[in-house]
Amino acid sequence: MVEESKKESSKQDEMPDWSEYRGVMIFIEQRAGEAKNVSWQLLGEGRKLADKLEVELIALVIGQSVDRLATDAIAYGADRVYLADAPELNEYRTRPYSRVALHVIREVKPEIVLFGATATGRDLAGAIATHLPTGLTADCTILDVEPHPSRLLLASRPAFSEKMLATILCKRYRPQMATARAGVFEAAPYDSARKGEVQKVSSLLSEEEIETRVLQFIEATDRFHLEEAEIIVAGGRGLGGPEPFKLLQELADALGGVVGASRAAVDAGWIGHAHQVGQTGYTVRPKLYIAIGISGAVQHLVGMQNSDCIIAINHDQDAPIFKVANYAIVGDLFQIVPALTQAVRAQRS
Ligand code: FAD
Repeated sequence: MVEESKKESSKQDEMPDWSEYRGVMIFIEQRAGEAKNVSWQLLGEGRKLADKLEVELIALVIGQSVDRLATDAIAYGADRVYLADAPELNEYRTRPYSRVALHVIREVKPEIVLFGATATGRDLAGAIATHLPTGLTADCTILDVEPHPSRLLLASRPAFSEKMLATILCKRYRPQMATARAGVFEAAPYDSARKGEVQKVSSLLSEEEIETRVLQFIEATDRFHLEEAEIIVAGGRGLGGPEPFKLLQELADALGGVVGASRAAVDAGWIGHAHQVGQTGYTVRPKLYIAIGISGAVQHLVGMQNSDCIIAINHDQDAPIFKVANYAIVGDLFQIVPALTQAVRAQRS
């Protein structure tokens, strides 16, 4: 009996032969011809995985008038691009996009396919994984691969109310699929001299065969893309209430940025969750991050420490935020922030 169950479990551990599945594929998400930054970030990370596995990095571009994105994908690290460019693919709709993606994935047989963990990426990845069928790890923050022969994708994501990091494997199906958070990975520098191949793919469904119509696209007025912002002015518990966020908004407006927040400020109800930076909020990678009245707890730092330049304003010179800051301003935020806003306005006028 014991022998039999041992045999059974060793059979389960046996990996099927996946030798015809090779390559790492990244879905390049775009709207109105503009790629989401997360797509370039995933190409940067995908390049590392592809190099480790010694395979091609493949990009999948779907849309209308998006051939420029195929060129950009090569410049950001892709070796080959599959490009589906047609009027019926102008706006994202699950069925036509998933039909194209499924066709390419079934033909090309990549071993790994990655999407941004955006509304579109989550929807498309879920639809594709169900049809293939294969496993899908959502919202990853760390990606790695085991080398040959297992070639397993190690897809890690926070789990159990973000208290643990779980590494999830997809042993028995191919391709291995994951969505990954924006702002976590770094795009490779744009290299216009890189060479790659572009293969055109047809759209597979005519407009008449698609049941859904996009009548109008209305951008939610309270929705801004914190993870795409180049300048973030973030406030924490040091603000003492919701009112001082107006001071931060003024500074953000003067700089052309947006307002972020620590969880303490969000939990206190001073500002909405869409503004939260950190482990249970957004991971951001702006050019400039100004942390105001934020102590620098590790859960906040993981969400912003990869910013290009960090300025911290805090009246406690020992605040941990200063350890990751490029510029430290020690003092009272209520004096410093209005003075900064005035200086920026004067500079710009
Ligand atoms: P505090 O730590 O209270 O810091 C306030 C700072 O303001 C202090 O350093 C103080 O010196 C300064 N200050 C006060 N008055 C002034 C003034 N007048 N002028 C200048 N400086 C002043 N936190 C996040 O931010 N994001 C997350 O996603 C997140 N996820 C979490 C997930 C888990 C599972 C857990 C357990 C915690 C998480 N936290 C997260 C909470 C985190 O641990 C901290 O509690 C939180 O970041 C603290 O926010 P804060 O820095 O605004 O507040």
